[in-house]
Amino acid sequence: MDSAILYTKRPPDEATALDLLDAGGYILKQGAGLFALLPKGVALLRNIESIVHEEAQIAGFYELRAPALQNSELWVGSGRLGRFNECMFHTAGNNSVDYVLGATNEELFTKIADARMLGESLRFYSLGERFRNEYRPTSGLVRSNSFYLADFYYIGSDANDVKNVGIEKLAELLRNIVSRLGFETNVAIREFDEKLDEASQGALYSYWTESSSKQCTVYACPNCGKSYRTEFSCCPNCSTTLKRIDATELGDVSYLGNSISKGMQAADLIRGESFMAIAGIGLTRCIQLLAEKYQLGQGFVWPRELAPFDIEVISNETRLEEAKKLVCELEAISNKVLFDDRKCGLGRKFIDADLIGAPIRIALGNNTSFGVFELLREDRIKEEVSANNIIQRLEE
Ligand SMILES: [Zn+2]
Repeated sequence: MDSAILYTKRPPDEATALDLLDAGGYILKQGAGLFALLPKGVALLRNIESIVHEEAQIAGFYELRAPALQNSELWVGSGRLGRFNECMFHTAGNNSVDYVLGATNEELFTKIADARMLGESLRFYSLGERFRNEYRPTSGLVRSNSFYLADFYYIGSDANDVKNVGIEKLAELLRNIVSRLGFETNVAIREFDEKLDEASQGALYSYWTESSSKQCTVYACPNCGKSYRTEFSCCPNCSTTLKRIDATELGDVSYLGNSISKGMQAADLIRGESFMAIAGIGLTRCIQLLAEKYQLGQGFVWPRELAPFDIEVISNETRLEEAKKLVCELEAISNKVLFDDRKCGLGRKFIDADLIGAPIRIALGNNTSFGVFELLREDRIKEEVSANNIIQRLEE
């Protein structure tokens, strides 16, 4: 097996989820707020992406690809460069054009929608690297300068349709993604504030999870289950005392109305007015939050839909031939089998297997005799299974 896949290092005692992602060879920190994903991290991300693509397709959204580099003219036109300037990276091109590294795609997609305009609403989404010039990129993958985001756009010429149907569609889509990732679908709802302009509304729906990353505070009602981003002493819905929770936002839904298109139209960048609702979910952020969720001791137990590997086989040196035969049989039922055939002790292999976190682990060691394996399932209860029965046991 390729050592790039099995690469791990010893985690610190009482490691956090972020420590384990680092020790397990999922990520490599390049500097404050900058992380590379290593093969296991990429495998995890690909599985998250598959869920996003499937759910977006079911909801009728079409994928676009946005370049990381955008002409700042778009942002000057929309009037948002001032507001976002502090957190945007600028770079000058050889043609003396000022470029920005895309923090979001609202301007670009407003332009694309305008070219297609606009009898009915358009639903777009894109996945890509986004950039924010954070002052304090200190929470690992949760708050970094370069991160991988899935963003969704509902754009139309009918404000009411965007505000009602669009927001509802986006909220449902995020709910489905969050739930398939295995998070509880906690959502803090903020009513649309008629006194504020559309660009200043902030998120109407915030999907959050309880997290040691503590990126935000939510106030949750233990009685009716509603939660809020603004502080009330009692639940506005049922008057129960609210519980303060350290949380991290997974994604949110906002209504921007015509706040983008108005400026772009005035700057002659587009022809017509359009209204927009948006949603976003941070996928690299999700890796860290999933790691917190699926951490077990000094390792992980990933659920099958997300796991980089379905099954890991570990063998001591004397049973390698037997293990190879088993791996061939397993490869007929899964294309994500990992075989640790390195020449090192079983103890080391078990420590690494905890970090790799395959939901199924099969060990051929000293505790079992020829033809008998130790099977460890997602619930991490051990059982001994004979070679004749192993495939049948796994398919049950
Ligand atoms: Zn309540």
